Amino acid sequence: MDTLVSARRVLLGPPGELIDDGAVLVRDGVVADVGPRAEVAARAPHAVAGYSCPGGTVLPGLIDAHVHLVLDAGPDPVATLAATDDTALVRDMAERAVRLLDTGVTTVRDLGDRNHLAVRLRGEIAAGRLPGPRILTAGSPVTAPGGHCWFLGGEARGAEAIRETVRRNVEHGVDVVKVMATGGGLTRGGPAIWQAQFTEEELRLVVEEAGRAGLPVAAHAHGTPGIAAAVAAGVATVEHCTWMGPGGFDVREDLVAEIAARGIAVCPAAGPGWRGFARRFGAERAEEMFTRMRRMHERGVRLLTGTDAGVGHAVFDDFVSSLEFFEHIGFSPAEIVVLATHGTAQALGIGHDTGRLRPGCRADLVAVDGDPLTDLQALRAVRLVLQGGRPHLVGAASRR
Ligand SMILES: [Zn+2]
Repeated sequence: MDTLVSARRVLLGPPGELIDDGAVLVRDGVVADVGPRAEVAARAPHAVAGYSCPGGTVLPGLIDAHVHLVLDAGPDPVATLAATDDTALVRDMAERAVRLLDTGVTTVRDLGDRNHLAVRLRGEIAAGRLPGPRILTAGSPVTAPGGHCWFLGGEARGAEAIRETVRRNVEHGVDVVKVMATGGGLTRGGPAIWQAQFTEEELRLVVEEAGRAGLPVAAHAHGTPGIAAAVAAGVATVEHCTWMGPGGFDVREDLVAEIAARGIAVCPAAGPGWRGFARRFGAERAEEMFTRMRRMHERGVRLLTGTDAGVGHAVFDDFVSSLEFFEHIGFSPAEIVVLATHGTAQALGIGHDTGRLRPGCRADLVAVDGDPLTDLQALRAVRLVLQGGRPHLVGAASRR
């Protein structure tokens, strides 16, 4: 049956595009019609399920470009993961997927799972057997032996092993290839967070092998040498991009310009607890890091919304606190709404059918109370989510 969702205003995705007193007609998982409510209702068939949000806003579903469904967001996600077998893990991942959906997130990019369990969950959700956001998944991230997130199963040393690790992910049907270009905070005993794990040549192999399958590469990179190598190798996105060096920050303006010129997108992956950086690193250093993101954006670098959900204390049900990071660095609520929908969809290469509401696009949409264009907090009042046209009443799964 068709579904008609109407609201005080309908945001279409691109900046400034909205319809007052609008409606969206959904059929077979896609947007069939969108426009002023009276006109869409007149064109709609009689048998239609209606949802009305007279004081609220309908907008494209939100996109979280950096999650880890295999991690539990507890104090020690790595230990919890090690103690969880695959059967229990898939169940946990499905529950986390529902939390994301409850907050209006209809697309996630899962940047590192174990045993390709996110691919399996992706299939269950796509087939309508489980509720959850659409999943774009990376499988096991390519990493150095004993390197960042080695426990996810993607360790590789040398050209052939690197190619083989990428191919294995491709065979499992991943949507993107993830490579750990530098160390990371999550992994005990691995390289330091600023240290590169691969040479530029090795990262080129990753990009080349992924490219054979038509897949983009997402590079986890904190340290400047790793960022430089990833950019030169031609990755599609840089995750974190914190410009760390052995003795402090080491920003290279020439690289910032190159990231912008090549259209490489940067995901700050600032989780809901991003304010905690100030407690851990000192207010001044944290502010320096935050401001750097704004400067990169001002110089033309495309940013992605993402939470790193699953790592320590990065919960799956507080996307808005993560979006407040962008408010902190000077984005207006209206700019953030565009960034979290149309902007991130475009930068991820899925903008042709995601992140906007127009006929033919996926029926991924959210209805919230209030107006998120003037108050970001309105995004917390999610009333209805449609993912691929399937209605999800918020909280329904958790009450089960
Ligand atoms: Zn991550």
